[in-house]
Amino acid sequence: MKLTAKVKLLPTPEQHKLLLDTLEAANSACNEISQIAFETATFHPVALQKICYSQIREDFHLGAQITIRCISKVADAYKVSPVEQREFKPLGAIAFDLHILRWLPDHQAVSIWTVEGRQFIPFATGEKQLDLLKYQKGQSDLCVINGEFYLLATCEVPTPPTLEPENVLGLDLGIVNLATDSDGHSYSGCEVRSVRCRRRRQRKRLQSKGTKSARRVLKRLKGRERRFATNENHRIAKQIVKTAKDTKRAIALEELKGIRKRTTVRKQQRADLHSWGFGQLIAFIIYKARLAGVKVVEVDPRNTSRRCSECGYTHKNNRKSQERFSCGQCGMRAEADHNAALNIARQGWGQISGPHESGDSLRVSQVQATCSTGGS
Ligand SMILES: [Zn+2]
Repeated sequence: MKLTAKVKLLPTPEQHKLLLDTLEAANSACNEISQIAFETATFHPVALQKICYSQIREDFHLGAQITIRCISKVADAYKVSPVEQREFKPLGAIAFDLHILRWLPDHQAVSIWTVEGRQFIPFATGEKQLDLLKYQKGQSDLCVINGEFYLLATCEVPTPPTLEPENVLGLDLGIVNLATDSDGHSYSGCEVRSVRCRRRRQRKRLQSKGTKSARRVLKRLKGRERRFATNENHRIAKQIVKTAKDTKRAIALEELKGIRKRTTVRKQQRADLHSWGFGQLIAFIIYKARLAGVKVVEVDPRNTSRRCSECGYTHKNNRKSQERFSCGQCGMRAEADHNAALNIARQGWGQISGPHESGDSLRVSQVQATCSTGGS
């Protein structure tokens, strides 16, 4: 499967300037190519290359390969829609292929083409990213994030065959607990909750101020909050996949679409549910599961929180509150999230072992999760 390794470059101040110049030159070239493409209605990369290649190389002093990358970038942009002329930001990401970028993992460095010739630039990275880079294939995007240069490298990581599950670990995603599994284990902890509460209060205070500096602080907080959520999602996904693998189980979770629809909660909580990034958590679980050979099934979320996992009685009054479940028929009491996770596990198992043996009736997720694995 495809994963992206995110690697921070450590250029000298001179190299930093060269990289800036390179991105600026490439993006100016893109704008020139874009104009030619638009005016002549030439959107196919090969045709576009024919009419502008030499002119662009000359005008912008670009190498052969980088010129071709720029032409591809423009052609790709017009694939979306050729109705309006495309414009590119001065420091937009530019793809570097193996002709203009060489990875030297043994030296923790890259050899990269710039407007002043090739540069040898070290990069900072962890064990995990280095490991990923072994599978680096094709092109990498050079981009600027908060004034620093990064390379986003595409890596084609081999996936093991999916293990035949003996049972299913159900997973309920929620608000009070980010995730609860069918063993009754909750993932999130009070740290997450207290951070979210604190941030929300901070945000409110700053929003009511409305000054320029308040807005700046808000922006910074938002970034910090997102990074915290990403790290937590990585951590939780890792634990869940490990639990499933160690116990030879598949993972069943609700379709995200359904989760958003069925959650009947107060407005603020709904905002939390969206802001946390459950889509990201699900994507992390799916790709980590694939790397571990653990099967994932997505189930229909209707009634998972209203059905009794003991007797099957389904009624909205079963759900006494956000936290409590109490069956109106058999009297079973449980934590609402745990009860839902048990239902999800059962539905998942039904899908895996159900009457339809043919593979296509299984709704095994085929999502190609392409995510940065920076967090764990
Ligand atoms: Zn019951």
